[in-house]
Amino acid sequence: MDWAPDSVIVRLGGEIWIKKSWTRRWYLRRLVRNIRVVLEHYDVAYDQIIRRNGRVFVATCEAQASAKRLSRIFGVSSVSPALNTGTDLDAIVNVSLSVAQRILTAGNSFAVRCKRVGKHPYTSQEVCRVVGRRILEALADRKVRVDLDNPDLRIGVEVRDDLAFVFAEVIKGVGGFPLGVQGRIVGLLSGGLDSAVACWLVMKRGCSVVPLYFDNDPYTGESVNKRTVEVARVLSDWAVGFPRSLYIVSYGASLKEIVEGTPRRLTCILCKRLMYRIAERISDRVGAEGLVTGEAIGEQASQTLRNLRVLDEAAERYPVHRPLLGFDKAETEMLARKIGTYEVSARSVEGCEAVPYKPATKAKLEEVMEAESKLDIKKMVDRCVGGLAVVSL
Ligand code: ATP
Ligand code: MG
Repeated sequence: MDWAPDSVIVRLGGEIWIKKSWTRRWYLRRLVRNIRVVLEHYDVAYDQIIRRNGRVFVATCEAQASAKRLSRIFGVSSVSPALNTGTDLDAIVNVSLSVAQRILTAGNSFAVRCKRVGKHPYTSQEVCRVVGRRILEALADRKVRVDLDNPDLRIGVEVRDDLAFVFAEVIKGVGGFPLGVQGRIVGLLSGGLDSAVACWLVMKRGCSVVPLYFDNDPYTGESVNKRTVEVARVLSDWAVGFPRSLYIVSYGASLKEIVEGTPRRLTCILCKRLMYRIAERISDRVGAEGLVTGEAIGEQASQTLRNLRVLDEAAERYPVHRPLLGFDKAETEMLARKIGTYEVSARSVEGCEAVPYKPATKAKLEEVMEAESKLDIKKMVDRCVGGLAVVSL
């Protein structure tokens, strides 16, 4: 029998396993829904999605293509293209042998691993022994050998109640929790490297992100807008089945008031504080539980520990989450590459012209509030929220 996988084994992240049974069931339901929408979105043919004892099996004639897609769904720790053999031991052995014939070359070492849940007339050790012996006999001319500790190749057998699968490959999944099991969060998305990674990190933990972009025109140009839309699209590809939209605030007029009406060294701090306030109003509107930003300690002048404190004070009703707080730039870059935002985010665009030559690194809350008293903050927030645009990606 030739080795043509007809299924994908989908394994859940370990953290899902330590949840109480009702939480786990709910997570699993959400995961299965997310799997379905991803396969349908990418036109991957499948017959059914089966749940058994906390595992998910997808029956599909496009096992390789779907495995690749499924490995990028949050909550999936690994996937394996597999062949459904039925639980009869002879069938398992025969399929395992044909897999071995396909993948083992002269001198290779191998190991057979079996996981079994349910009642069967054999134990998992027996499966390993019988399959191993049969491969050694049949491939004696290739001088293959068993190495349980450090094999060149592994052949896996997974038996769950009335189902059994043989597989040869384990593809690492993205991990995390199924998207949607946590609430909504407003992501302040600038199109730069950091905020995209920050949004992705909370998505990975199950939050659905509402991306919010402040268009600083005329202090930034069209290339920045374009970059943000592209980044938001990449993030949306990780959230198939969720709204594909970008919230855009026309922010230039407000930034102009800050630049012209307050001390220049405070521009970035005042700008961010106003952004937070507007983001809070958007959170009200979309029913979010908080804000997420790409700030990391000391990464910019406005991100010193002191300045972060002054920024935080502007968000009165929602927490500001900063998943990159302790990240080095290189770590963020590495993640951005994995996510797929790096290419777009790293593109050179003109910087914000409102940034002063010497921004304050140790702003005092009193001086910031004093500067804000010269602005009509409420009016600025109302104007920005009133002019909010929601763009489909
Ligand atoms: P990034 O790499 O995300 O662009 P940054 O390192 O350039 O951020 P700042 O410009 O200080 O840092 O911005 C800090 C955070 O504020 C960003 O990570 C982002 O979450 C938010 N932010 C900044 N500018 C904008 C913007 N124009 N629209 C939306 N959010 C923004
Ligand atoms: Mg940054």
